[in-house]
Amino acid sequence: MPEGGSDRATTVDASELPYLRRCIELAAEAVEAGDWPFGSVLVDADGKILAEDRNRETTTGDPTRHPEFELARWAATHLGPEERAAATVYTSGEHCPMCAAAHGWAGLGRIVYASSSQQAREWKAEWGVPVTSPLSPLTVQDVVPGAVVAGPVPELAAEVRELQWRFRNGNSAGD
Ligand SMILES: [Zn+2]
Repeated sequence: MPEGGSDRATTVDASELPYLRRCIELAAEAVEAGDWPFGSVLVDADGKILAEDRNRETTTGDPTRHPEFELARWAATHLGPEERAAATVYTSGEHCPMCAAAHGWAGLGRIVYASSSQQAREWKAEWGVPVTSPLSPLTVQDVVPGAVVAGPVPELAAEVRELQWRFRNGNSAGD
């Protein structure tokens, strides 16, 4: 964890925004492919991007193909325990309970998200879209009590909201 302590760990520094922007680019790629708009990036202690992925549920037919889960599995395969603990996962949307559990089991470090699960639920309610997740609406910290989490970032959450809207209303921007 940074020397600055918990305040720094639970707030999003301006130097971190490019990672979140990359997550949103990946989420946009997912929408173009017909997948749910989610993207995530795994970054080591020195700020180097180690791995990234986007949602692939629709294109693979596998509803567990969330990017946060893929990164947890990648980290478990490729990194030692100390590297995993020192790594940060940036993601366009807060981990779902499945991915939070994978994150916890992999022993990964801090999570930084652009938008929260609570926001996603509010958008669905606003749009009259039913909640389709079979999981309880748990936060990352409900699932992994020791997790260090930062987010949401309002201006980026608005971009995630726009991608969600695009996904739900077909891939073309026009209507
Ligand atoms: Zn997930």
